[in-house]
Amino acid sequence: MSTSIPSVVRTRFAPSPTGYLHLGGARTALFSWAFARHHGGVFVLRIEDTDLERSTPEAVQAILDGMQWLGMEPDEGPFYQMQRMDRYREVIDQMLREGTAYHCYSSPEEVEAMREAARAQGRKPRYDGTWRPEPGKTLPPVPADRKPVVRFRSPLDGVTSWDDVVKGPITFDNSELDDLVIARPDGTPTYNFCVVVDDLDMKITHVLRGDDHINNTPRQINILRALGGEPPRYGHLPMILGPDGEKLSKRHGAVSVMEYDKQGYLPEAMVNYLARLGWSHGDDELFSREQLIEWFDTRNLSKSAAQWDPKKLNWVNAYYIKHSDDADLASRVEPRIRELGGDPQAADLPSIMALLKDRAETLNQLAEGAMLFCAPPIEVDAELAAQHLTPESLSVLADFAEHARALPTWDTPGLAALIQDTLARHGIKMPKLGIPLRLATTGRKQTPAIDAVLALLGRETVLERLDAVQKR
Ligand code: GLU
Repeated sequence: MSTSIPSVVRTRFAPSPTGYLHLGGARTALFSWAFARHHGGVFVLRIEDTDLERSTPEAVQAILDGMQWLGMEPDEGPFYQMQRMDRYREVIDQMLREGTAYHCYSSPEEVEAMREAARAQGRKPRYDGTWRPEPGKTLPPVPADRKPVVRFRSPLDGVTSWDDVVKGPITFDNSELDDLVIARPDGTPTYNFCVVVDDLDMKITHVLRGDDHINNTPRQINILRALGGEPPRYGHLPMILGPDGEKLSKRHGAVSVMEYDKQGYLPEAMVNYLARLGWSHGDDELFSREQLIEWFDTRNLSKSAAQWDPKKLNWVNAYYIKHSDDADLASRVEPRIRELGGDPQAADLPSIMALLKDRAETLNQLAEGAMLFCAPPIEVDAELAAQHLTPESLSVLADFAEHARALPTWDTPGLAALIQDTLARHGIKMPKLGIPLRLATTGRKQTPAIDAVLALLGRETVLERLDAVQKR
């Protein structure tokens, strides 16, 4: 899409609502969205729901949720193909009138026999043109009681080419393309036809989609031209592979975008990570949504397949968590703490985020970390207690508690100093105090920096727990 960009760029994302919004779909949407935004254009959302057996309202909702979560709001739409049936019928009638489409009364068995015959002669299986009108040709008599399909009168020779935005020039021999069925016997339009009518009516200038659609493109271009339209620019994105080099699938973990929300990924991180799957801007790995829009150029779309890398996603997510505002993180983690059975109100959540965010890869890890402050302490493991809560260490803890009660202010520096003083007073090293102190106040052997943990737990709670440990 380098040379001539039309004055108004219009892109679309056209998912079939047969399941959740998967990672590949989200990436396609993201590129179409970023391209439109870069050019100050229009991003259209179109739901291709004509496959009644496989489309569900839940899947539509999952797509809308996923797009909203990732912040890819459409400027126009969602349009639903099922609501455009009258328009498709109108165009089919127009094509029949203009002679660019025709009724075909061959039965499915007859068409299969034609294909078989072609195969037997070593040719590509195809419809043999029995019902295709030609000047001077007499068509067979119309069979009674049989409803026809409508076929597109595809060019017989020549080539159909386009300069693919991702893959470069692609050419198909028209002799390879069958006279495509564009309406079934009951009048319902077929997939490739609806796409063409929509792309034309919605004035789409650029189509970015998965390269599994390459074989559809020459058919769509020919129908578009028959309708007097100018084909959009097409760009076909290579697929996403799993870490093992196989096509990305459930085997590799979550493939639904919203599952990543559940697991505690930030939408900003997801957008950043998805953008790098098949697109690059120099060596930049971390960039904002605004930078993506500013930098997005289809020339930097990769011709080869991208590889899903969960470790890198975690690294990107950790970066976004680390650089998030504490209060913002707190509000995102709050519902997750509730889900774990904790009480987010029980503690100063933003300060907890400040303490934990440098080491968390997901919001769920933050929530788990915050449970230290949002739930009663866990029961100390008996073996750990026997090892670390000895009469000797309990007397150190009692001394610590006495001084803690008298601290003029309850904060991290004050507690850090008290810990050092206690070590000195008893002539012991940190683990001798650190482990019993952690066990007594949190039930855990390992926690973030204990001075900061105690500061956040608050004086009253800490003293209560230090008191309780003496009585266990
Ligand atoms: N509905 C198609 C799909 O979900 C996409 C069609 C297109 O982008 O042209 O794969």
